[in-house]
Amino acid sequence: MIDFAIPADLAAERDRVRRFVIDKIVPYERDPRLTAHGPTDELRQELVELARAEKLLTVQAPESLGGRGLTHIEQAVIYEAAGWSTLGPVAMNCAAPDEGNMFLLSKVADPGQVQRFLAPVVAGHQRSVFAMTEPDGAGSDPAQLSTSATFDGENFTINGRKWLITGANGAKTWIIMARLAANPHLPEGPTLFLADGDQPGIVIERTMNTMDRNYVAGHGVVRFDNLVLPREALLGEAGQALRYAQLRLAPARLTHCMRWLGAAERAQSIAIEHARTRTAFGKPIGEHEGVSFMLADNEIALHQCRLTIWHACWLMDNGEKARHESSIAKSFVSEELFKVADRCVQVLGGIGISDETVVEMIFRDMRAFRLYDGPTEVHKYAIGRKVLRG
Ligand SMILES: Cc1cc2nc3c(=O)[nH]c(=O)nc-3n(C[C@H](O)[C@H](O)[C@H](O)COP(=O)(O)OP(=O)(O)OC[C@H]3O[C@@H](n4cnc5c(N)ncnc54)[C@H](O)[C@@H]3O)c2cc1C
Repeated sequence: MIDFAIPADLAAERDRVRRFVIDKIVPYERDPRLTAHGPTDELRQELVELARAEKLLTVQAPESLGGRGLTHIEQAVIYEAAGWSTLGPVAMNCAAPDEGNMFLLSKVADPGQVQRFLAPVVAGHQRSVFAMTEPDGAGSDPAQLSTSATFDGENFTINGRKWLITGANGAKTWIIMARLAANPHLPEGPTLFLADGDQPGIVIERTMNTMDRNYVAGHGVVRFDNLVLPREALLGEAGQALRYAQLRLAPARLTHCMRWLGAAERAQSIAIEHARTRTAFGKPIGEHEGVSFMLADNEIALHQCRLTIWHACWLMDNGEKARHESSIAKSFVSEELFKVADRCVQVLGGIGISDETVVEMIFRDMRAFRLYDGPTEVHKYAIGRKVLRG
């Protein structure tokens, strides 16, 4: 059966989330602790406590860890509402990279790792990173991984350099991808490791200056300098990192789509209000077809994006991996929503590029969405190969 109706209790929760974000979170968008390198940890903690008080913290987490174990479809509805402000997902602990990391750890970590590395992230007490991308190695093509790990039967030693690592500065739970060298004990190849961010051997070289500022602590350049980890640091099976990365990425790229859909809707609502009230050539600008068509194109795109997301979610809720559909969704939604944000800037005229409204921040923050969790061209490359295979 195909049923697009949102159940009444989910619709009520969506409205509660939207109200919470508008009333309690939006005012923080002008807080000086929302810096060029994203919200500070102090700001994050304050927002997290607001969500905790409303019982809206980490609602997606498995029930065994205190969450509500939301389905993918339920996440789509709730995250869209949370995304009205880029600080909404930060408050509710469903922002990247923590959201995807929590998902991966809930699937792969052993009970000891869950207690030490996952539970404090779910509780909102500490943050996590996923360290894969490298200046001279893994990027679009993770098989180029050059960070190395050796194993002597007791300890791993990791060396290498990563960049664009979101939230690196101050995060405690680290998921590190490195290439395990041949050894007599474990399979070689790309492998995931868990580490504590305070450990010697993890060196934050600097935080990069980027055009977005929605992710806590920005994006770091990191060096692993003879980082020594015990055998228990192995996350899942050795040599399986690329498989686990896919396990994380398929839902994680969809949750980006959900949150940015909420932000794009906000931009559209501001553009609509402006088109109703600003006049030019004797009438509200919205009555000029050039403007109403831009708003109509936005409405069409928002609707298409929502349906595309829901379809991929529905497949995953029915036990499918939906890698192909989540690739389609990620490439389509990131491109379309960026066009929506751009048209909103255009409708606003000159103030569109100023911080008089939040549209400018949404436009800037959203640009990177076309790159992370797979640039559009890489998704099209994968979709094209699948199509040609038949
Ligand atoms: C804001 C932000 C946050 C990020 N956070 C993290 C993080 O927390 N952890 C982490 O590990 N990484 C993170 N990344 C890195 C991100 O995953 C990479 O940027 C992405 O995988 C692309 O890799 P790259 O930047 O090395 O681009 P490259 O691999 O150098 O590719 C450059 C361009 O080449 C083109 N291209 C590449 N391959 C193909 C192909 N097969 N066909 C056609 N065109 C192609 C694409 O246009 C692509 O944009 C983040 C990136 C950004 C922008």
